Amino acid sequence: MALISGALVAAAAGARPLLSSAARRAAAPLSCAAYWATSPGGNGIEDSPLPRSSHLARFRERRALAVTDITATEWCEKQMEFVLEHGKPERTDAMKAGSDRHAQLEDEVVRRVDVAIRSAEELWAVRFMNFIVGTNQLLFEDITREIPVFGVVEGSWVIGIIDEIQLPKNGISFQPILVDTKTRRRQKSPSEAQKRNGRLQLMCYKYLWDNLIAEKFPTENFFSYFDLDPNYLLSNHVKWYINSLGFNAKTFEDVLKYFKITCHTLQWLQSQEQLLLRYELQADDSLLEEYKFTYDARWFKDQIQEVLSFWQGSREPKFVTEEERWKCGICKFAPDCPMIDWTPKC
Ligand code: SF4
Repeated sequence: MALISGALVAAAAGARPLLSSAARRAAAPLSCAAYWATSPGGNGIEDSPLPRSSHLARFRERRALAVTDITATEWCEKQMEFVLEHGKPERTDAMKAGSDRHAQLEDEVVRRVDVAIRSAEELWAVRFMNFIVGTNQLLFEDITREIPVFGVVEGSWVIGIIDEIQLPKNGISFQPILVDTKTRRRQKSPSEAQKRNGRLQLMCYKYLWDNLIAEKFPTENFFSYFDLDPNYLLSNHVKWYINSLGFNAKTFEDVLKYFKITCHTLQWLQSQEQLLLRYELQADDSLLEEYKFTYDARWFKDQIQEVLSFWQGSREPKFVTEEERWKCGICKFAPDCPMIDWTPKC
């Protein structure tokens, strides 16, 4: 049994519950599984084995793709492959500052507590409770942060954590708006490539959120794909945690029932078509830019299919385009990247 207390540990194996003035919930990190779609509509889930050499089979078997896997792939497929093969490079000061800012924003509305997790069922139980409490907080306080979302996108299991959801206070619309905050080291507008990556990230969240509240969570596939036991008896510690939130659950399935009831009651909370990226300056947290854009289902689907074709091993990874060759200048894998050898030096 492992006590989950750190983000990296949590991302690999567990979850860290949170506590807010109105609610408690756990940070739901990334793990799970991936399927690929064979249906024309792209939403079918095919339990066919992937080619053994595919990135999905090698690195995400019986695990979900994280939304950050998707955005990292969109940034540069070759770089994503380097990360899978060699591990993530050391975090830069700018990345650490970004994480610190997110922790600060999270602390404004939730407080984390530790829960001991013994199994995948308990990890998912805490994750479902985080979703339930996060949505309650949204309804009662008009805002929630770090809320987990999960589901099937174009046939692959995907999981992510939405930075922030707000309910509008204009009295006109009740549809929540999804927000993601990015921090920047310099007082400079983000490039189109950075904005495009952020758009993809927020569209993933919207797709997952809207599908959850539309009650499209594929329960049977969930149990079979992740090899979870609905009758799993939760530990005393997890039961205590769930109880402290005002729920009473003995088995994993009890928690899933609460989750489904929550989704059912949220049907009217489909998110706005408008999504919001906020850019802040790291030096003083001042707002640099608010970038609003509209969800584009066709564009999103194309992007996801492109990313998945890399993961499914249908083709070789792509390098960055010529216009975005500047990314290589900030890439830790550049010394080993064939792209650099091909680049004319003049
Ligand atoms: S050097 Fe450029 S093309 Fe190669 S992995 Fe890095 S970002 Fe991608």
